[in-house]
Amino acid sequence: MKILITAGPTREAIDPVRFVSNHSSGRMGFALAAQAAKAGHTTRLISGPVSLRPPRGLQQTIPVTTAQEMFHAVQEHFPWCDALIMAAAVADWRPKNPGTRKLKKQDGPPAIQWMRTPDILTTIAKQKRANQRICGFAAEVGDPIPEAQRKLKAKHLDLIAANDVSLPGAGFSTPTNIITLLYADGRIQPLPKLSKPACARHILAALTSLR
Ligand code: C5P
Repeated sequence: MKILITAGPTREAIDPVRFVSNHSSGRMGFALAAQAAKAGHTTRLISGPVSLRPPRGLQQTIPVTTAQEMFHAVQEHFPWCDALIMAAAVADWRPKNPGTRKLKKQDGPPAIQWMRTPDILTTIAKQKRANQRICGFAAEVGDPIPEAQRKLKAKHLDLIAANDVSLPGAGFSTPTNIITLLYADGRIQPLPKLSKPACARHILAALTSLR
């Protein structure tokens, strides 16, 4: 398959030296890219700012910073792929008017006005061809299944990987993850605590089975 993977966080500028972001390390997305390339899939990786070395054997790595940049990169590369895996933790809001100069602390805490970033999956799913498959992630605090079921439907996904990031050994920065795969046909496949490369292999096998 031709597989497009997104990874890492995005950064949204407050001013030229400050930003808002999240705890995503990029590990899950990079593990997916590494395992996809290793399995012989032609793989492109769109990554937010992370401190990981890109895996070997990728056809292309596209670095981005903001949600808007990630949105444009996914739009550009989506028509090429057979499967899109959105493992990136995309910021949901961004400062509406980032300062063009560094905000001075003597001026007190800034009153930041926020605006929504584009929901990449929701937009891209509308452009999906019949033979393309899309996998999303639902990182939740607490039981992730109800929210994952809602997102699977709302974002018109074929597959979603749900995890409770508050569990030890799951979620951000850890070398392991505890995911449950939910399919559009209603199947639910809980997986034990596994290394992120092992989780990636399960996700890739699930996508392959849906082709
Ligand atoms: O709605 P929520 O952000 O929890 O959904 C998570 C899934 O949606 C992930 O697969 C993430 O990559 C994707 N997402 C997106 N665009 C956004 C926010 C999240 O595609 N603006």
